[in-house]
Amino acid sequence: EAPPPRRPIRELPDELVSQIAAGEVVERPASVVRELVDNALDAGARAVVVRLAAGGVRSIVVEDDGCGIPVEELPLALKRHATSKIGSLGELEAVRTMGFRGEALAAIASVSEMAITSRTADAGHGWRVDARSGELQPAARAAGTTIEVQELFFSTPARRKFLKSEATELAHAVEAVRRHALARPDVGFAVWHEGRVVAQWRAAGIEQRLADVLGREFIAASRTLEVAAGPLMLAGRAGQPEAARNRTDLQYLFVNGRYVRDRLVSHAVRAAYEDQLHGSKQPAYALFLQIEPELVDVNVHPTKIEVRFRDGRAVHQAVQRAVVQTLAATRAAVAAPVAE
Ligand code: ADP
Ligand code: MG
Repeated sequence: EAPPPRRPIRELPDELVSQIAAGEVVERPASVVRELVDNALDAGARAVVVRLAAGGVRSIVVEDDGCGIPVEELPLALKRHATSKIGSLGELEAVRTMGFRGEALAAIASVSEMAITSRTADAGHGWRVDARSGELQPAARAAGTTIEVQELFFSTPARRKFLKSEATELAHAVEAVRRHALARPDVGFAVWHEGRVVAQWRAAGIEQRLADVLGREFIAASRTLEVAAGPLMLAGRAGQPEAARNRTDLQYLFVNGRYVRDRLVSHAVRAAYEDQLHGSKQPAYALFLQIEPELVDVNVHPTKIEVRFRDGRAVHQAVQRAVVQTLAATRAAVAAPVAE
């Protein structure tokens, strides 16, 4: 059989480039929620409200009281590779914001109907931009930003077919906000579905927020952990062996405020429980790792769910030690209760 005739190389149209990028970043409504809440937090929001319809497939609205976007920059916010967060390689390597790729809004807009309404503190009123038409209109709004995403994947039916039931998509979206809530106890969060509040966390201290999000049961069966190891600060809670579960659903790891999955750190934690957990039992924990941004590369995965540590061995050792010590202190406290 003759090979197909060669086609000339062509540059892809912008819209298609964004749709391809969206394939990496936007898997389901929860991915949109994660990106929009990241943006709200980067904007300095104190309160973030997420409103969903049909599990987020029909509509996702995220409102914040952050710094807003000046009207002259609204069209730029929707452009690919346009960001206010970094401007150089040096800034990328020291990045402290959740975002820096300048890709999320363009990607989401290419697979949905999107509109942004925003107002900065010094503007007389807000503005709304429709992503598809680019049309700008004055709008009433307090300082902050509202992003509306309707009909996710309406133009990419193949992707839409992969979506699960409304209930499952809603659960994933709530989980996305739960992770943000753990990382930012100082910010208030609310999630609405079809006009009802389905999750709400008021601004609080970390201990209170951990209890609010993870439940009193986990708090009662876990110990606070706070360790400094060289350039590393480790805080959070490690569940006692009795808090172990059959699934990995209560394993939260944050690196510099970002929820991540990391095999190295999971392995270190698992190793710390080695003599105390049997079979397939999974430890429960919420760990917050702070490290100089220069010592961790957050630009390894489009969704930033993975990071790469410059000195992985040191991180592994510090995490394992910290958890071992916490568990040992717990056992000691149980063996010899302090007289009150
Ligand atoms: P990134 O977050 O990587 O910069 P995005 O596509 O998510 O890229 O957003 C593009 C830009 O739009 C941001 O850099 C920011 O300046 C602006 N922006 C997006 N969302 C908000 C928001 N909720 N409040 C203020 N500015 C925002
Ligand atoms: Mg962003």
